[in-house]
Amino acid sequence: MTIQQSTELAVLGGTPAFEAPLHVGRPNMGDRARFMERVEDLLDRHWLTNDGPYVHQLEEHIAKLIGVKECVATCNGTIALEILTRALDMQGEVIVPSFTFVATAHALQWQEIKPVFADVDPDHYTLDPARVEALITPRTTGIIGVHLWGQPCDTDGLQEVADRHDLPLVYDAAHAFGCSHKGKMIGSFGRAEAFSFHATKAVHCFEGGAIVTDDSELAKRMRLMRNFGFDGPDRVIYVGSNGKLSEIHAAMGLTTIEALDEITDRNKRNYIAYSKHLAGLPGVELIPHPKGGLFNHHYVILRVDAERAGLTRDELSAALQPENVLARRYFHPGVHHMEPYASLQPMAHLVLPVTEALSQEVLAMPTGQQLDEVGVEKLCGVIRRVLDRAPAVRAALATKDA
Ligand SMILES: *Cc1c(COP(=O)(O)O)cnc(C)c1O
Repeated sequence: MTIQQSTELAVLGGTPAFEAPLHVGRPNMGDRARFMERVEDLLDRHWLTNDGPYVHQLEEHIAKLIGVKECVATCNGTIALEILTRALDMQGEVIVPSFTFVATAHALQWQEIKPVFADVDPDHYTLDPARVEALITPRTTGIIGVHLWGQPCDTDGLQEVADRHDLPLVYDAAHAFGCSHKGKMIGSFGRAEAFSFHATKAVHCFEGGAIVTDDSELAKRMRLMRNFGFDGPDRVIYVGSNGKLSEIHAAMGLTTIEALDEITDRNKRNYIAYSKHLAGLPGVELIPHPKGGLFNHHYVILRVDAERAGLTRDELSAALQPENVLARRYFHPGVHHMEPYASLQPMAHLVLPVTEALSQEVLAMPTGQQLDEVGVEKLCGVIRRVLDRAPAVRAALATKDA
């Protein structure tokens, strides 16, 4: 494919660079025929939910892949976090990053636990252990780290803080399925880790999630909570919710896990292409992926330095949309600016300078099976041309807004 250097930018009245929209988090399908086979199977079995054989298979497969004793599959990642924090008796205050998807905080607030927002480390984008420790009070009952975009948290640093204060440490690993850290799979750190298998994640169940842990007592409590507290027919011993994963969802999970290597390989090659074709572009940095170990490369994140790039992150993003490049501002504006946190904790931003800055700079780019190296090269060419014509782009966007 040739890059059409002569084509006018869409924001300046030209035609879109891409005919079909390129999305961030476009669902992976896996082997469609294999999925359909499983669907036939489960329909034949008349076993559609309630701890069915596909759910068991999925749980066993995940536990083995991560290298932990227990996997409790759930109907989504948010319920996984709610059940996990409740099973650990978290209450009062729990320390979380604000630089994350809103569900990390909502899972707590939903149970009337106050999420206390700690700042992230500017180079790793994950909880800064020193900032966490500074926020611990007598009401603190736990810490939730988030492996943002699959970037592993400082697990040693956070564990030291947690141990020093005798607090349970868990992780929201929604972005990090298939990633490793220090020679172990993500999922094996802290007391437990929660995954999301939402359609936009690398491995998915349409909707789904799971908690993984080596703590069998904890897993038992979570299984009770997932199923209304039923300990046997007609025997309820605990307050519970309905967090069950159904068979058709588990069938999709099994199918997309089988495709994980292929998905990762595609993402990795796209990432390398982004890195090659954006090299040397002033003001636009592709955030480096962790060295060594496994990484799912599910998120490709740019950091835009407005001064050097000539356009702000928001301007670049706005100029890419009409090209059918639907980049997303993950994560903007920071959970502490969203309700109810903005009203409940209006001063939170004072301890979140890194989050405040990062949330103005980051831009998630399309990747996955909708793109290949040629497409990425073309996309990077569009970014270059947008920045080359920064003053005209800025003027065009300003008149559009007016
Ligand atoms: C997707 C996501 C969740 C929520 O998972 P669901 O399965 O959509 O409920 C939680 N935390 C993070 C960081 C996420 O990206």
